[in-house]
Amino acid sequence: MSETLWETAFVIGWLSVLGMRAYYARLKKKNRPEISYRTPPYIIIAVFGILLAMLVIPMLVIFTSWFALFYLPLSISLRAAGLIGFFTSIFLLWWVHASLGTNFSQKLEILENHQLITDGPYKYVRHPMYSQFLLWVVFQGLLLANSFVLVLGIAAWVFFCCVRVPPEEKIMRKKFGKEYDQYALKTGCLFPKIKC
Ligand code: SAH
Repeated sequence: MSETLWETAFVIGWLSVLGMRAYYARLKKKNRPEISYRTPPYIIIAVFGILLAMLVIPMLVIFTSWFALFYLPLSISLRAAGLIGFFTSIFLLWWVHASLGTNFSQKLEILENHQLITDGPYKYVRHPMYSQFLLWVVFQGLLLANSFVLVLGIAAWVFFCCVRVPPEEKIMRKKFGKEYDQYALKTGCLFPKIKC
């Protein structure tokens, strides 16, 4: 299959995510911040890293030949697995947003009518949006067949989760106290708990 088809699928995926984010960012405006926390510089760097890995570098791979050196000669079935996985991760992102509703925020903040969401994907993991990021970076690597995209994506995801998850859980514990502790006992952080 021609490269253009895989690349077009990636761009369509991104456009659908932009539409979804714009819709939920607008919805969130109805729920104003109650407490906004200062974003430390390393979180800002991590957000830039994730944007670089999920948007900037993949677009440069598509629209320039700068990263051609990292092209992976993958079979058509692996590329197709990348395509299916990539769109499954976008569906998961929609499920996350639909469940989180007006409690979504890009910043570290507690909103006026903040509710602790424990259903939908939040029934299994406390940070399903960040779990989705991992699926995205892995499957985009296969879809675009590029080792640089794959390795940078995983590295940016690890750094992002290490710096973003602990302060986010801290503010959620501050707001919801024992309720959050109970919730945390039943759920995995980024991967569902395996019950034996
Ligand atoms: N980390 C979550 C949410 C990302 S959006 C995820 O990966 O799905 C970030 C905002 O969501 C944070 O400001 C935090 O206050 C809020 N948040 C995180 N978990 C939440 C939950 N279970 N219920 C409601 N709000 C939550």
